[in-house]
Amino acid sequence: METFEILSGLVPAQRLRRDEALDRHTTYRVGGPADVMFLPETRSELLAVVTAAHVRQIPWLVLGNGSNVLFADEGFRGLVIKIRGSIPAEGTLWHLRQEGEFIWAGAGVSLPRLARSAAATGLSGLEFCTGIPGVIGGSIRSNAGAHGSDLGAVLESVEMILPHGDVVTIRASEAGFSYRKSGIDPDGIVTGAVFRLTPDEPENVYERIRVFTEYRKRTQPSSDQSAGCMFKNPAGDKAGRLIDAAGCKGLQVGGSRVSDVHGNFVVNQGGATASDALRLIEAVRERVFERTGVALELEVRVMKSGVV
Ligand SMILES: Cc1cc2nc3c(=O)[nH]c(=O)nc-3n(C[C@H](O)[C@H](O)[C@H](O)COP(=O)(O)OP(=O)(O)OC[C@H]3O[C@@H](n4cnc5c(N)ncnc54)[C@H](O)[C@@H]3O)c2cc1C
Repeated sequence: METFEILSGLVPAQRLRRDEALDRHTTYRVGGPADVMFLPETRSELLAVVTAAHVRQIPWLVLGNGSNVLFADEGFRGLVIKIRGSIPAEGTLWHLRQEGEFIWAGAGVSLPRLARSAAATGLSGLEFCTGIPGVIGGSIRSNAGAHGSDLGAVLESVEMILPHGDVVTIRASEAGFSYRKSGIDPDGIVTGAVFRLTPDEPENVYERIRVFTEYRKRTQPSSDQSAGCMFKNPAGDKAGRLIDAAGCKGLQVGGSRVSDVHGNFVVNQGGATASDALRLIEAVRERVFERTGVALELEVRVMKSGVV
């Protein structure tokens, strides 16, 4: 039996799509089709599908808002599970609730919504999230951060499911967070998280959000299609500075171009392919290494069949 037929016996038909173009699901707007895409609304739907995929050995991977990934032009042979939502309905993977200085948020809640919700009730700690276009699940996996903070610094605990069906909650201190990295089980799917925040006057929180937003507008190509920063900052330096110093600004392969605004952003000028982006990334990496001796490490994740 094919993946689609197997899964359609488990969840409502509207949660499944066949041959779904992945460029529609990533901010860089490249990537061929996934054999099947599953858009779960609840943890129990997710559990049913993931355990079936595990038993049937269907290759799968999980996607949030697709703002830190590049899919190949050939797409993905297997199942892509996309966890992202908008209507804050109770019981869904994008529900959000506050209790005192804690916020519980489902994996599909967007970081900007989380930040705005905290600000509205006078809770500080998530202001840095305002301009990061990810959702909680994907952002915890890569410990998203900005302006000197990151999710690991404000997380209390993370809930996830494991492919054989266990639901586990781990304390943030056990999740191995470091710069743009977490030690979360690579087979684990984050379903929600608890954040511990600090009370402050809402106007102070909003003011920090305003300052961070202005800074982003000034320094990043926010209106271009990109996957954010391509490379991690090496210890004690900035990848963007090294890329500028190596003369890579404006370098272009097909429709992919190193942004003129920020050297660490590769933007889709229109019509770029994943292979354009990968060739450009390699050219930048080589040139930076030749000129500065620094080997840049990718921040963006290249998604391949069979690799989660
Ligand atoms: C304009 C722009 C600005 C950006 N600025 C920043 C910034 O300031 N700081 C920063 O850190 N990043 C930034 N990014 C990159 C990106 O937005 C973040 O890394 C974001 O946190 C990724 O979240 P996502 O939901 O899009 O994850 P995705 O890109 O969908 O996935 C990222 C990874 O997480 C995994 N994943 C997804 N969902 C789950 C889940 N539920 N459980 C387990 N694993 C999962 C995926 O398999 C993948 O490996 C920027 C991107 C853009 C386009």
